[in-house]
Amino acid sequence: MTRQPTGGTAPVLELRGVTKEYPGSPPLRVLHGIDLTVAAGELLAVVGPSGSGKSTLLALLGSLDRPTGGRLSFEGRELSGLRDRELAELRAHRIGFVFQQFFLLAGLTTVENVATGLLYAGVPAARRREAAVEALREVGLGHRLHHRPEQLSGGEKQRVAIARALVGRPALLLADEPTGALDSASGAGVVELLRTLNAHGTTVVVITHDRELAASFPRRIGIQDGRIDFDERRPGAATPGAVPGSLPGFPPGAAPDPSGAVR
Ligand code: ADP
Ligand code: MG
Repeated sequence: MTRQPTGGTAPVLELRGVTKEYPGSPPLRVLHGIDLTVAAGELLAVVGPSGSGKSTLLALLGSLDRPTGGRLSFEGRELSGLRDRELAELRAHRIGFVFQQFFLLAGLTTVENVATGLLYAGVPAARRREAAVEALREVGLGHRLHHRPEQLSGGEKQRVAIARALVGRPALLLADEPTGALDSASGAGVVELLRTLNAHGTTVVVITHDRELAASFPRRIGIQDGRIDFDERRPGAATPGAVPGSLPGFPPGAAPDPSGAVR
């Protein structure tokens, strides 16, 4: 394999013949050879029926789980050779996750919840809090800093979860059915926010079974029975190159120092 330089022109994600089997007798093969390239700055939707393998794919894209076969690289780095600890570090610094069920901690305020997004990146507590406040302002929740999850609407909870995902300035944001638990107005707000983050340079992959939502995205990938069924771009949608840069109010230096990673 030719090793591509990281941070340069390497795609954020490159999958070649990726398979996934869950153990059992016989094992259940859920992904059957996925080929997929995602360039820096893309905004794409992954659609498909329930049970088609979307969440399984997202777990692989985010290195939460490992493929059974094939090759998967992140920013030019093949992941199969990395240890679990190295993958955890990669996730802590480069990848943000948003799920349908928010996963906010009930006893914590919004600032505290968002600050947990930096817990594994070795950022000192005062800086975690500062960054959390900034991220909450960015998602439009500057007026909800000290609320607890039970005092928030569904749409607000998902914004807190998005702030937690982006507080570490990830290169890649992965969202699995982020609007699945929301009414259509709050869902639209969340999608708008994901678009804004993408416009500021974050690569965003959104899994959804909502075809209408997906139709508004510049690129859509269909999964059917663990295979890519279609991969289409909206006519005229440019293929973005690397979009460097930070979000307003977030100098690149705001990203945690990898050397400070928690072991
Ligand atoms: P989707 O997100 O598209 O609904 P999933 O990726 O969650 O699909 O699931 C794809 C298939 O893999 C389903 O048949 C599901 O039952 C199975 N599956 C998912 N996770 C596991 C697991 N941890 N162990 C065994 N089977 C699983
Ligand atoms: Mg799913």
